Amino acid sequence: MRKSIAIIGAGIAGLSCAATLRDAGHHVVVFDKGRGLGGRLSTRRGEGWQADHGAQYFTARHPLFQQQVQNWLGNGSVAIWQAHPAVLGSSQVPAHDAPVRYLGVPGMSAPAKALAAGLEVHTSHTIQGLIHAADGWRLSNAEHGQLSGIHSQVVVALPSPQAASLLAQASPSLSTLAAAHRMLPCWTVMAQLEEPAQLGFEAAFVNSGPLRWLARNNSKPGRSGQECWVLQANAHWSAAHLEDDAASVKQTLLMAFEQLGGPPAVASSAHRWRYADCEASNLGSVWDATLGIGLCGDWLHGGKVEGAWLSGHHLANKILEREQG
Ligand SMILES: Cc1cc2nc3c(=O)[nH]c(=O)nc-3n(C[C@H](O)[C@H](O)[C@H](O)COP(=O)(O)OP(=O)(O)OC[C@H]3O[C@@H](n4cnc5c(N)ncnc54)[C@H](O)[C@@H]3O)c2cc1C
Repeated sequence: MRKSIAIIGAGIAGLSCAATLRDAGHHVVVFDKGRGLGGRLSTRRGEGWQADHGAQYFTARHPLFQQQVQNWLGNGSVAIWQAHPAVLGSSQVPAHDAPVRYLGVPGMSAPAKALAAGLEVHTSHTIQGLIHAADGWRLSNAEHGQLSGIHSQVVVALPSPQAASLLAQASPSLSTLAAAHRMLPCWTVMAQLEEPAQLGFEAAFVNSGPLRWLARNNSKPGRSGQECWVLQANAHWSAAHLEDDAASVKQTLLMAFEQLGGPPAVASSAHRWRYADCEASNLGSVWDATLGIGLCGDWLHGGKVEGAWLSGHHLANKILEREQG
């Protein structure tokens, strides 16, 4: 049987790694526990409304990522968001420093889906075990037990705590490395309104109270449906209220929205991101050539969507260099 490279995690890091290996001629198989692709690049849809409840937008500073963004703009999976976020509670951000902000269209996961074109991707596969057999790596998952594929290498493209847990048996040293990188939570509320809120801005960074960010989802290109605002709590508040129930989180964040001048929501829902942001390192990626296990993700490359993409690309190149060397 032809051996493939297994990629665990179909967020932007895993898919960037997978696409680079695919383009170099490798057979790659991607697994994700979710029903769709994109990980934290995600859009929630309800009856008549939609909201980007994970990453709000992304920026591109590195030339390699800028090239990738040009490709996405070219194939229509990404658009520019002409937003001018207000800064509430401080005016530390100078206007001339405003970056170009990019979005997936029609939803945030569109660029992830574009990367995955032609790849073998298995969703609803929660990988729980990595077993090193004589013929290569075998995986098991929560849904089906042991899987039939044999893999020459394994790429773990997960938030650091999840990578640490998955690697505990297969590589205690990689597990320890991942466990040393803390990730930060974010409670998010999606608030549906009867009509557009007249706040004088369509997005804002907030520097006081429980909120960190709010945005009018309908102001983004390609979005439709009922008027909806995304309210994100700051990491400190989210950590302090991590185990609170969704109802009380909604009450607090909606009240903070109203104190900023927002109207009462007619309906709302909350999502707890246990691992939203990271205390990022600049390792780029990690590759253990002896075991044939690699790690990539935003937490290894400065954080954010750009860091995740660069980390996956970085790891794929390490794997390819090793083969050529
Ligand atoms: C609320 C919020 C706001 C953000 N705002 C911004 C922003 O404005 N700009 C920006 O650039 N970035 C932002 N980010 C961060 C950005 O989304 C991430 O940096 C980036 O998407 C991380 O990509 P990744 O591939 O490293 O990880 P992820 O996207 O987390 O991908 C990991 C994947 O692994 C899967 N997985 C986990 N465990 C398993 C398992 N056992 N088996 C199989 N699959 C598994 C998950 O389902 C997921 O799809 C935000 C994130 C959040 C949550």
